[in-house]
Amino acid sequence: MTEATSSMLGSVDNGEQKPGSSSLYYSGDFVSAASQRGRVVLEAQNVSKVFKLGLGSKDYISAVRNANFSLYEKAVVALVGESGSGKSTIARLLAGQIPKSGGEILLNGMPVNIKTNRAFRRYKREVQMVFQDPFSSLNSVHKIHYHLKRPIAIHQRQLKRDAVEKEINSLLNQVRLLPADQFIDKYPYELSGGQRQRVAIARALAAKPKVLLADEPVSMLDVSIRLEVLSLLDDLRDRFSLAILYVTHDIASARYFADETIVIYGGDIVERGTSEDVTQMPVHPYTQLLVSAAPNPDALDSSIRDAKVSGALSKPRQTISALTTIKGCRFAPRCQFATDKCIAELPPLLPISQDRMVACWHVDKAIAHLSSRQIPVKTSTVVSPGESLTLQGAHTASKPDASKNTGLDNYISPGMSNLTNIRQHGTISQTVLPERDTEDGSTN
Ligand code: ADP
Ligand code: MG
Repeated sequence: MTEATSSMLGSVDNGEQKPGSSSLYYSGDFVSAASQRGRVVLEAQNVSKVFKLGLGSKDYISAVRNANFSLYEKAVVALVGESGSGKSTIARLLAGQIPKSGGEILLNGMPVNIKTNRAFRRYKREVQMVFQDPFSSLNSVHKIHYHLKRPIAIHQRQLKRDAVEKEINSLLNQVRLLPADQFIDKYPYELSGGQRQRVAIARALAAKPKVLLADEPVSMLDVSIRLEVLSLLDDLRDRFSLAILYVTHDIASARYFADETIVIYGGDIVERGTSEDVTQMPVHPYTQLLVSAAPNPDALDSSIRDAKVSGALSKPRQTISALTTIKGCRFAPRCQFATDKCIAELPPLLPISQDRMVACWHVDKAIAHLSSRQIPVKTSTVVSPGESLTLQGAHTASKPDASKNTGLDNYISPGMSNLTNIRQHGTISQTVLPERDTEDGSTN
């Protein structure tokens, strides 16, 4: 390990033996980056999900193991991982769509019980979901008016007919489908994917939620309009103090959109921290793989392209049913640092700094690798109180800086850098979006 990387983890914990080396770990409490924005709204405590495969069958899939994290008012938490890693299962558990196999989910500090009707109805109102596929999430036989009137009738029963119409109008305005009259009487098939996703978001807002669980909300949209939809969500987060879970396989968009990024592999959280740190200085070997394997290699600079995680990329992924049999780290079969211990024992998720946690028996090797292979790194944020680290080729910035190409900047679309600026200034408004007709034909 270089001097720089060892000083990165300068906080010494002389207590119990930790993975790698005890000196790598932070002795204080972990603080979620998202907690800076507001109070905790939704909390997952050791949440697990086991799917039984077939009636009477003994086979099962352990899709989520002991997930711990919180969603905060006005904050976005990104849940990132490859397909099959358990992201949607977590979102569905939090939405109350499927029962959990273990752990606890708390809304405003109160445990959620699917069986008690009244409390659960309230929960279903306050925790809304937006799905990936805007084409199948709206019923094609009904007009937009119907899609918005229905949740208003369910969640805002007190409203009289005129007020309902006003509310429908207002919802379309909030999602920037303007002028609203032009959309109310349209069928979903008459709208573009981006417009449909806006209707789906408006439908979720009709319940006046506190939490929005957005499951890959832009991954089926054209690249050119992804930014607009993410910008819209960012605006709504601020305006309605929403706590947002942003589920994505796209780690680059997490950097721009989310306060905190949580990386999940095979149902286990393997790393979490500020989005900037996790994407620019990934520590867990799986996060390093995700970052270095980010698509669109032309937009990545050559040092990053050369930094493909050796070995890991050539090893095949395993299915979740195969991973279910692994007691230890589920990434071990793909990991270049794996030892017998990794297969046998699950590494605990422990803080390596005040706002970063990693679950790996070989954090020291992973950090040394991060430094030596120049996986996209920038100046670290403070890793233990009073200490900071400059890694090779680093810039001085604690927030994404659109003017500096660190490899991921152009990944989603050139316009994504606008969102970077938005996050830096803490606000987002129509002024940051181009004053032009969108691909949908609507005007921003
Ligand atoms: P992601 O959203 O990250 O792509 P999912 O949460 O959809 O992953 O799935 C995680 C794992 O759980 C997958 O292997 C998937 O096949 C499995 N799974 C999801 N839903 C079910 C189900 N209803 N029955 C059995 N297995 C399921
Ligand atoms: Mg999914």
